[in-house]
Amino acid sequence: MRIEIITTGDELMSGLTQDSNFSWAGDALTSLGFATEFHTTVGDERDNISTALATASQRADAVIVSGGLGPTPDDLTSEVAAAFFGAALELDGEALRSMEERLSQRGRTLTEMNRKQAYLPRGSSVLINHWGTAPGFSIEKGGVVFYFLPGVPKEFRAMMGEYVLPELEQRDTGRKKVRSMLVKTFGLPESEVAVRLEGLEREGIRLGYRAHFPEVHLRVTAYGDTGEEAGKLIEGFSSDVRSRLGGYVFSTGGETMEEVAGILLRRHGMTLATAESCTGGLIAHRITNVPGSSDYFLEGVVSYSNESKEKILGVPKDILIEHGAVSAPVVKAMASGVRRLSGADIGVAVSGIAGPGGGTPEKPVGTVFIGMDSDKGGVRSEKFLFHGTREEIKLVTSSRALGFIMQIFLNNV
Ligand code: ATP
Ligand code: MG
Repeated sequence: MRIEIITTGDELMSGLTQDSNFSWAGDALTSLGFATEFHTTVGDERDNISTALATASQRADAVIVSGGLGPTPDDLTSEVAAAFFGAALELDGEALRSMEERLSQRGRTLTEMNRKQAYLPRGSSVLINHWGTAPGFSIEKGGVVFYFLPGVPKEFRAMMGEYVLPELEQRDTGRKKVRSMLVKTFGLPESEVAVRLEGLEREGIRLGYRAHFPEVHLRVTAYGDTGEEAGKLIEGFSSDVRSRLGGYVFSTGGETMEEVAGILLRRHGMTLATAESCTGGLIAHRITNVPGSSDYFLEGVVSYSNESKEKILGVPKDILIEHGAVSAPVVKAMASGVRRLSGADIGVAVSGIAGPGGGTPEKPVGTVFIGMDSDKGGVRSEKFLFHGTREEIKLVTSSRALGFIMQIFLNNV
């Protein structure tokens, strides 16, 4: 089945809005074993939308159109579709009722503008929108099925999931069965990941790289005649990937680094506290993005100045003077200090030069020390040299710190 996705909207063409509907749909289709063959984006112009529909009808079996179903004058999709299919726009009773219901639940009444949205090309089937106002519709012409969905990403995704994907699966029964997995790695550049995976290619497996700074994600898709066959393929392949990449893989189930760190802390009944200088609280922020993190996260100190490191965390003044704030002895003292303050099982501390100024020949921008204090691993530190913008250095530092926390459990250090 050849699939085309058409996304519409001036905001996409001007670059103001990223075409996340396309990315989401492409990913969702791929993970179900479909291949998107064409992707067209057009602005809100009648002629261009019409040309896009005509072109797609020549080269695709299924066409998914996003956007332009709203009530405003720049929402032209239904009108253009009606003209293209040679079908008059007719008031759809079901669409109208569902809109009235939804609006009344919110204490609003249907306006004339809204009413316009309930007019669908004759011969189409309404796709009720339970997630927003604009109804969608599907229509077939010359053996090609078209799905028209609203552009609001939340509504687009929900309606893809509710209507389009299940229907496409039913229509394309001869399709290979698919299993897919997202392997998330941290700590190796993409090129190094690729080198390590060289020669692993095999029939029935597709491997896609997605840089997701500072992580590298791999989308593994396995195709088989049955679900079992695809499942076996992906199991075998992912265990090979794991053995090549070792501890650089932190998740295959979609979890973030902070989630994995949280799972490990919870599993071992351990608590954590952080002392951050250059990351300004980012580590604590990421950890507390995970619901339930109060079970294991006790305290986060942002000690940006030397005085604060001394006063709050008890870093000895002479160490600060002798080694400077960005140094191994200081992050060790910070980690021990916050551990003492909070009573946590693990204290993690970071101090570094995020730039763009402040670098010296011995400690250039990107120099970061991460310290750790735990019963298992004792008090230790590691030095890094990161590259990138200030934001990137902060982000990669926070990821390293989370990696440090995971290592305690995974390597028994
Ligand atoms: P509405 O009833 O909100 O007008 P609509 O179906 O007419 O819905 P649009 O007007 O095209 O949809 O877009 C509505 C919102 O969704 C806009 O904020 C737009 O930026 C966003 N949007 C539209 N298309 C996409 C897309 N392909 N990717 C990401 N966002 C999109
Ligand atoms: Mg609109």
